Amino acid sequence: MFKASAINLLDLQPEQVNSWLQSFDTVISDCDATLWHDDTAIEGAADVLNALQTRAGKRVYLITNNGLKTRHEIWQRAQRLGFQLPNETHIISPTQTIVDYLKQTTDITKRAYVVGNAAIARELNDAGIESFGAGEPEQLQPDVKWQQFVQRELSQPAAVANVGAVIVGWDEHFSYCKIARACHILCSNKDCAFLVTNKDAVHKYPSYHIPGTGAFVAAIEACAEREALEMGKPNPLVLQPLLNAAALQPERTLMIGDCCKIDVTFARNCNLQSLLVGTGSYQLDTLHANPQLPRPDVFLPKLANLLPYI
Ligand SMILES: [Mg+2]
Repeated sequence: MFKASAINLLDLQPEQVNSWLQSFDTVISDCDATLWHDDTAIEGAADVLNALQTRAGKRVYLITNNGLKTRHEIWQRAQRLGFQLPNETHIISPTQTIVDYLKQTTDITKRAYVVGNAAIARELNDAGIESFGAGEPEQLQPDVKWQQFVQRELSQPAAVANVGAVIVGWDEHFSYCKIARACHILCSNKDCAFLVTNKDAVHKYPSYHIPGTGAFVAAIEACAEREALEMGKPNPLVLQPLLNAAALQPERTLMIGDCCKIDVTFARNCNLQSLLVGTGSYQLDTLHANPQLPRPDVFLPKLANLLPYI
């Protein structure tokens, strides 16, 4: 319904909203700026997601590009903030998508080199996949020349032996040494998987902007001369496990999110319906001023606006 119309549900008659509510039986909701900001739930969002399940009988999943926590840890956060979900399989997270992908496509007796945070290593470890590098600050020391680093770390066969994947996530310790190691592994073995939690280039906060994982990925892609496989939105691959399990019908599934470029694009890529909420960076004014942005089917200023209709 309302395909790419970006219509504000608050401008519709209640019976039209009710009929729209009947057009889907599964809901997939983005988390950051849709359900919560950092560790604070957005007012009324939990009431809506819980009512969609208990009153309207919808099946609800949460999806995030956040690779700083394992799937289980994201589920724990959701529970703590009041979002009731049956179990962690109702969370779609890049760390778990990476594990699922490695299990299906690679030899998981091989190690993974992680340019990223410790949550990626925890998720891999829980699945029995050995990794190294995650959460470690690998910097060139002031008294060491780069040639010495290369000689010591990269020129030995052991540097690439038994490594089956390079995985990149958000990494506050990102460094020349890490790019060099990732480049060396990927260039030495064309069969090595190259997976990233997401390609979000920048994180925009009211008073500052900081580089996102996409900025780190771009640096490694440039020198490795390979394109990384994105294991987060908007890549439709992340929905594949649920599709394989016949857990949802795309045309009867609603994607809720706050970001046109990521969430609405993901909905389009997967043939899902879409609801944009204005609790992030995009308002209806933003859509009108930027006609090139993908338009959602429907819009609400905030998720809480939906509660009276459920
Ligand atoms: Mg978001």
